[in-house]
Amino acid sequence: MAMIDPETIHDVKGVSVHNVHRHDVIVVGAGLAAMRAAVEASKDYDVAVVSKVFPTRSHSGAAQGGIAASLANEEEDHWEWHMFDTVKGSDYLGDQDAIEILVKEAPIVVREYEHMGAAFSRTPDGRIAQRMFGGHTKNFGKGGPILRACYAADRTGHVLLHTLYENCVKNGVRFYPEFYVLGLIIRDNICRGVVAWDVVNGGVHIFHGKAVMFGTGGHARVYRIASISLSSTGDGQGMVLRAGLPLEDMEFLQFHPTGLYIHGILVSEAARGEGGYLINDAGERFMKKYAPEKMELAPRDVTSRAIQREIDEGRGIGGKDFVHLDLRHLGKDKIMTLLPQIHELAWKFIHVDCVKDPIPIQPTAHYSMGGIPTDSDCRVLGDGKSRPVVGFFAAGECACVSVHGANRLGTNSLLEASLFGRRAGISIVRFLRDEPELADLPTDAAAEAIAEVEGILSSSGTERVAAIRAEIQQRMTVDCAVFRSAGKLSKLLEDVRGLQERYKHIRVDDRGQDFNMDLIDAIELGRMLDLAEVMVSGALGREESRGAHSRTDFPKRDDAKWLKHTLAWKKDGKVVFDYKSVVITRFQPKERVY
Ligand SMILES: Cc1cc2nc3c(=O)[nH]c(=O)nc-3n(C[C@H](O)[C@H](O)[C@H](O)COP(=O)(O)OP(=O)(O)OC[C@H]3O[C@@H](n4cnc5c(N)ncnc54)[C@H](O)[C@@H]3O)c2cc1C
Repeated sequence: MAMIDPETIHDVKGVSVHNVHRHDVIVVGAGLAAMRAAVEASKDYDVAVVSKVFPTRSHSGAAQGGIAASLANEEEDHWEWHMFDTVKGSDYLGDQDAIEILVKEAPIVVREYEHMGAAFSRTPDGRIAQRMFGGHTKNFGKGGPILRACYAADRTGHVLLHTLYENCVKNGVRFYPEFYVLGLIIRDNICRGVVAWDVVNGGVHIFHGKAVMFGTGGHARVYRIASISLSSTGDGQGMVLRAGLPLEDMEFLQFHPTGLYIHGILVSEAARGEGGYLINDAGERFMKKYAPEKMELAPRDVTSRAIQREIDEGRGIGGKDFVHLDLRHLGKDKIMTLLPQIHELAWKFIHVDCVKDPIPIQPTAHYSMGGIPTDSDCRVLGDGKSRPVVGFFAAGECACVSVHGANRLGTNSLLEASLFGRRAGISIVRFLRDEPELADLPTDAAAEAIAEVEGILSSSGTERVAAIRAEIQQRMTVDCAVFRSAGKLSKLLEDVRGLQERYKHIRVDDRGQDFNMDLIDAIELGRMLDLAEVMVSGALGREESRGAHSRTDFPKRDDAKWLKHTLAWKKDGKVVFDYKSVVITRFQPKERVY
C-alpha cells in the first residue's frame, strides 16, 4: 500500500493544522468511474486517488451481472437499438444527447478493458460472451430480449475494478487509501482541492490540485433494505449540497427487484437473464400480468412494482413480504458455471441451496439515478444547467449526466461509470493542457471541516448515531420506497427534519483520532440526513409517476407538467427547486409498455 511521503507535507501560512498534498489531479473515490478517470489522466499528469475504503473494496467490485455494449458478438445488435432501450427504460427522462454518447462509445470502452487485461467470459469461438438483461431488446423493442451484456461470470465488477487498479499502479497513480474526504474547497467558482480526514492516524489533510474529480458512488444506504455497500452513503452528493451547489433528480432511486429476503443483498438480474422465474404464493409466474411480453426481463421499475403489488395484495409466499426467485430448472451445471456467486450468497446468508430450493427475495434499494449535475464532458454544473465550476468534474453513480433518467437499465451503470470516468479523464487532460494556474488555497480552506470534526468529537449530547441512522433507514424503506404518496411523504419529511434536529445533539464514545469509526459514522449520517431531506422533498414535489418514482395518488406519467429534471439546493436551511428541460433528439416520449 502506498504510504504518505513526508516530503509532501508542508505548512501553509494561515492554515492551522495540516498536511498539504499537491497533485495535478485529485480524484476522490476509487470505484470504476474514479479509477477509469485516473488511468486516463495519469498518462500525462500526476494523479492522486483519495478513497475512504481501499480501492478494490469499492462498491463497483460487488457488481455481478455485466456491462452493456452492442458488440453483436452473439447476435445482430446496433447502438441505435441500445439507445432506444435506454431512452424507453429511462421513462423518457434521460437526456438523449448523453445517451447517444453512452451507447456509441460502449463498444470502445469494453474493448479497451479487454486490452487492459480484463478476463471476460468467452463464446466458444473466443469472443467476449454476452447475456440478456432486463429492458434490453432487439430491433427497437419489436423483438425479444437481446444478448448485450458482456460479463465475467457473475463477478464482472470485481474483474473490472481489479483491472483498473492494476493499470493505475502501472501508471504511477498515487493512492491515499482510508482518507475520508470531508469537503470541497471552491472559491470564486474555481475548485482548488478537497479537505480530508486521515482515518488511520487522525488529522485533517488538504489535497490541493488544479482539477478535482468525484467518483464517490451512490447513496442508497439511506435505506435499511439496500443492496449497496455500507460505505455508499452519498458523501460526494452531500459535499456538493453543502458547497451550495445543486443536485439533480434526487427523487429517482432504483429498487432492484431481487434482494435476498431481509438482508437486501443483491441477487443479480443475471439470474433472470439466464432464465430464472419469479413465483408468488400460488406458484404462479405472476409477471405475465404485468409485462406479458418481457416477463421476468421487464425493466427494474416494472418488475419491482409487480413484486411489491403481489406482496401488498397478500400473494407473497405464505402471505409474507417476499416472493420466490426460482432457478431450479436451470440445473446445477448452469448455476455453478454462470451464477456461482448467487449460489454462494443465498447459501451463506439465508441457507438456501438454489439448485434445490427457490430463493426468497424482495425489492431492495439499489441505485441512485439522481446526483451531481454534469455536462457530457463530466464538468460539474454549478447552476445545474450550463455553468461549469472551473476544475471540478464528476462521473459514475454520484453524477447525473443524465443517461438513466427515471429508471436505469441493468448493465448500463458499469458502462456509465467506466465510459464517463474515461471521458472525465480526457476532459481533465484537455483542461490541464491549457496550463491553468494552481489556484491559491484560501486561509480558511479547512475551517469548516475542522469545525465539523471538532464539534462531533467534543459533543456532549445524548443522541446516538446508530439509533438515528436506524430510524432514517427504516423510515425511508417504508415511506419513500417502491410506492409513494403525499400523505406518507409529508409525514416522512417532518420526521426527517426531526431527525436532523436530534442529530445536532449526538455524542460519540470514541474521542480519539486514530481509526475513529464513531466519527466517520457520525459524519456520514449527517450527509445522509441532508440527502434524505432532498429526496423526500423531491418525491413530494413530483406529482406524477415516472420510472422508479411511483405515486399512488398520481398514478400516471404527466409529460405536460413533469417532462423535466428537478434541481434542488439547500438554501437557508430549506430545500429550493428549479427545473430544466430534458434533451430529446431521436425518440419522442410514448406510452411505455413491455
Ligand atoms: C451488488 C451490486 C451489483 C451491481 N451489479 C451491476 C451490474 O452487473 N452491472 C451494472 O451496470 N451495474 C451494477 N451495479 C451498479 C454499479 O456497480 C455501480 O453503480 C457502479 O459500480 C458505481 O461505480 P462508481 O465508480 O460510481 O462508485 P463506487 O464503485 O461506489 O465507488 C465509490 C468510491 O468513492 C469512495 N468514497 C465515497 N465517499 C468518499 C469520501 N467521503 N471520501 C473518500 N472516498 C469516498 C469510496 O471509497 C469508493 O472508492 C451493481 C451495484 C450493486 C450494489
